[in-house]
Amino acid sequence: MAVHVIDEANRCLQCKKPMCMEGCPIHTPIPAVIRALKEGKLEDAGQMLFENNPMSLVCSLVCNHERQCEGHCVLGRKGQPVHVSSIENYISDTCLERVKSKCAPENGKKVAVIGAGPAGITIAIMLARRGYGVTIFDARDKIGGVLQYGIPEFRLPKAILDRYKKKLLSMGIKIRPNTTVGGALEIKDLFRDGYKSIFIGTGVWRPKTLGVKGESLGTVHFAIDYLANPDAYELGDRVAVIGVGNSAMDVARTAIRKGSHSVTLYARGSHSDASLHETQYAMLDGARFEFNKSIVEINDQGPVFRNTLCDQDGNVTGYSRETEQVYADSVIISISQGPKSKLVNTTEGLRATKNGLLETSEKGETTVEGIFASGDVVLGARTVVEAVAYSKTVVEAMDKYMRSKE
Ligand SMILES: Cc1cc2nc3c(=O)[nH]c(=O)nc-3n(C[C@H](O)[C@H](O)[C@H](O)COP(=O)(O)OP(=O)(O)OC[C@H]3O[C@@H](n4cnc5c(N)ncnc54)[C@H](O)[C@@H]3O)c2cc1C
Repeated sequence: MAVHVIDEANRCLQCKKPMCMEGCPIHTPIPAVIRALKEGKLEDAGQMLFENNPMSLVCSLVCNHERQCEGHCVLGRKGQPVHVSSIENYISDTCLERVKSKCAPENGKKVAVIGAGPAGITIAIMLARRGYGVTIFDARDKIGGVLQYGIPEFRLPKAILDRYKKKLLSMGIKIRPNTTVGGALEIKDLFRDGYKSIFIGTGVWRPKTLGVKGESLGTVHFAIDYLANPDAYELGDRVAVIGVGNSAMDVARTAIRKGSHSVTLYARGSHSDASLHETQYAMLDGARFEFNKSIVEINDQGPVFRNTLCDQDGNVTGYSRETEQVYADSVIISISQGPKSKLVNTTEGLRATKNGLLETSEKGETTVEGIFASGDVVLGARTVVEAVAYSKTVVEAMDKYMRSKE
């Protein structure tokens, strides 16, 4: 094992005011979890983690710990912070099946959850614990959303999602795969069939486009489509990735693993937008970076750029007159995603903001009574832990709403 969790647990100072908890978007009770671990109460530690965050095992692997819990640990001011992610990973991996979710007796009320990403899974688990009969609908064949069809296997083993599926089923949660709501079935059909409340956690799956000539060429692809099934693509040797966010790092690292020898990421600005670790790993894997490149068009040879001119603070002030042709076998556009509009188009009264995200209150109430939403479809492309944290608030609101209808 690279990091010994017991040694790491022993380094924790058990601060009276734990900064690690403040830095965690979901306020994981880190000192209490570590205390339980040190006392040999592993299942208590697991219980605390999963009660607070049903996606604890996933978060232990994919959260940006350097900016969150570990980035706030006081030991990090002069040395190495406690490796909280390894401790959480050890506990949640060992306890996922061992810790049984205590469910209240069935209350006879049915809830529909549209989308089996982190937001939908959190809502499903937390409402099942409160005695609701939950059915999850997902457009794809497997659960997980971006965890399954976006984040690559080398960062998040898919076997974890199979374990989550078993856990959901063991709690009596029903799963309808390959079912796009807003297609043959619409939200009004779900209300007709007795669901008392409906949750929308459909994420953002519509790639943002560059708006330049050449985006429809046969050698050009969008990141989220590529990552869903990289084996379907023949990228060739030289790959140009447009964008330098976390998704772009996943694209570059996947393309290298699938055999492309020359993978270059192009940034409009002067730095990478991805987390430090993801950027460093992409470099170690062999990806190259080109900064201050603004795309002009894509042709059959590859992308064409102008140089961006920046001031001292890195703000773009203009563009060079000359253009530069880059030669690439494939171009992958990775500049984020927005939501699809199926549910808004097929549900009377369901309103979206001008960016297409669902309009909700702070509690996740949409513009239609009984329909709630959270995760990326409300927040825009964000993170797993933020989807989970928001969903916890929404669970309270859905529970309150359904009780008020008794
Ligand atoms: C490539 C990539 C890498 C990322 N890496 C990280 C990372 O390392 N760490 C991190 O914290 N975050 C990461 N993120 C962001 C994170 O994955 C998302 O913030 C998170 O998955 C959002 O969860 P969600 O449940 O809102 O939506 P999603 O995960 O998008 O899940 C939505 C689900 O809804 C389903 N769906 C959509 N429309 C319908 C419909 N009409 N009917 C039925 N089902 C439908 C979809 O099939 C999908 O399963 C990454 C994102 C990408 C794209």
